[in-house]
Amino acid sequence: MDYDIAIIGAGPAGLSFACSLRDSGLNIVIIEKLSRKELADPPVDGRDIALTHLSRKLMQQHGSWQQVGDDNISPIQRAEVIDGDSPYTLSFNTPDDGTDALGFLISNHLIRKAIFAKFETLQNVTLMDEQEVTLMDEQEVTAVNTNDDCGTILLASGETLTASLVIAADTRFSSTRRQMGISTDSHDFGRTAIVGWMEHELSHEHTAFECFHYGRTLAILPMPGNISSAVITVPSNQANEVLSMGDEAFNADIEQRLHGRLGKMKQVGQRYSYPLVGVHANRFVTNRFALIGDAAVGMHPVTAHGFNLGLSGQDLLATEILGAQAKGEDIWNPALLQRYQQHHMLATRPLYHGTNAIVGLFTNDSFPVTLLRSAALRLSNNLPPVKWAIQQKLMAKNHLKNFLPPFFGK
Ligand SMILES: Cc1cc2nc3c(=O)[nH]c(=O)nc-3n(C[C@H](O)[C@H](O)[C@H](O)COP(=O)(O)OP(=O)(O)OC[C@H]3O[C@@H](n4cnc5c(N)ncnc54)[C@H](O)[C@@H]3O)c2cc1C
Repeated sequence: MDYDIAIIGAGPAGLSFACSLRDSGLNIVIIEKLSRKELADPPVDGRDIALTHLSRKLMQQHGSWQQVGDDNISPIQRAEVIDGDSPYTLSFNTPDDGTDALGFLISNHLIRKAIFAKFETLQNVTLMDEQEVTLMDEQEVTAVNTNDDCGTILLASGETLTASLVIAADTRFSSTRRQMGISTDSHDFGRTAIVGWMEHELSHEHTAFECFHYGRTLAILPMPGNISSAVITVPSNQANEVLSMGDEAFNADIEQRLHGRLGKMKQVGQRYSYPLVGVHANRFVTNRFALIGDAAVGMHPVTAHGFNLGLSGQDLLATEILGAQAKGEDIWNPALLQRYQQHHMLATRPLYHGTNAIVGLFTNDSFPVTLLRSAALRLSNNLPPVKWAIQQKLMAKNHLKNFLPPFFGK
């Protein structure tokens, strides 16, 4: 066997998984299409990622949080949901119980850069039991297969690798997932997210806004300084119109949709676009093979859970593997993989379908639906248990499996 674990994809999920296994003594290879140079200094991609408390804890544990730098982390202290032209808002504040924020915003390229910087340190130090962590960059995986003895990976270069366990972290459009016969529940929203930074006159006071307008949604996320990240989702046939709008018209449009809450607004940098497709794999594991990150679950960004789920999933799997190592069990043990699947499904399935339902509710502007949505906002605002539950979900301080009764496969 060439390696104990082969990870396909050095995105934030694949790299985090390698970092989580730093003291395992396992020989790990991570195979990535991009070059080491691009991984070390990824370009700005316009995505700003809202991270939960659990994500902060996990990034702190493997040391990548510390690499981001405090000046690049912006806490979210308050969130407001605005429905159409109605002056009514559903609002959430940071609870008054010693919690420092609802969540934390970091630009995606800085997350990727920080995780890669941490990953690189693993290659230069002596790890437990002469463990090796290897990056094969500029290498594309073209085929994957597993049997009872090992997993085999074929590279575009013609080289073949074998590993005891293969992990796919190769995007929501994972080709290796398909090759391994894992089906998905996928949904093309027919919408596109257009993202970019806006500078504004007034302080955002660390407030995030989610505005549901007719046919469009607009999220305004507070970044460091007087900058907010705008995420506009429009039907895909209108995306070009928004992308090609002149700066003045674009600025005025965002300002008006936010009812002038942040004063004069001006776009900085460029606009980026992402067609929105949600994907949930129907299984996360099969013989000597597991999915993590977007390859397992690719979310619509409206509830900001995609990478948070990627981080928590890789931690669930790494914890199972470290536990097996400690007990001298096989790391590809089917029972171990099943436990990972069970716990991660529990966290992802309701969120995936719940998010898709929210998208349906807030992008359908027929009269009964707008009425329902207005009622939902008022109900959430006025029923303390409902509001508390939404707030807890936003902050996500712990793995869901930790709230399960002991008999549930812990
Ligand atoms: C507009 C937008 C806003 C978002 N906002 C949030 C948010 O607020 N909060 C949040 O938690 N999430 C958010 N997300 C989601 C988040 O960006 C993703 O969940 C996350 O980046 C996925 O990481 P990953 O490592 O699984 O996959 P990726 O980042 O897609 O990485 C996969 C890697 O695999 C490599 N690869 C693919 N195929 C192969 C192959 N055959 N061989 C070798 N290498 C291969 C690719 O080159 C890539 O480097 C947002 C997404 C978008 C689009």
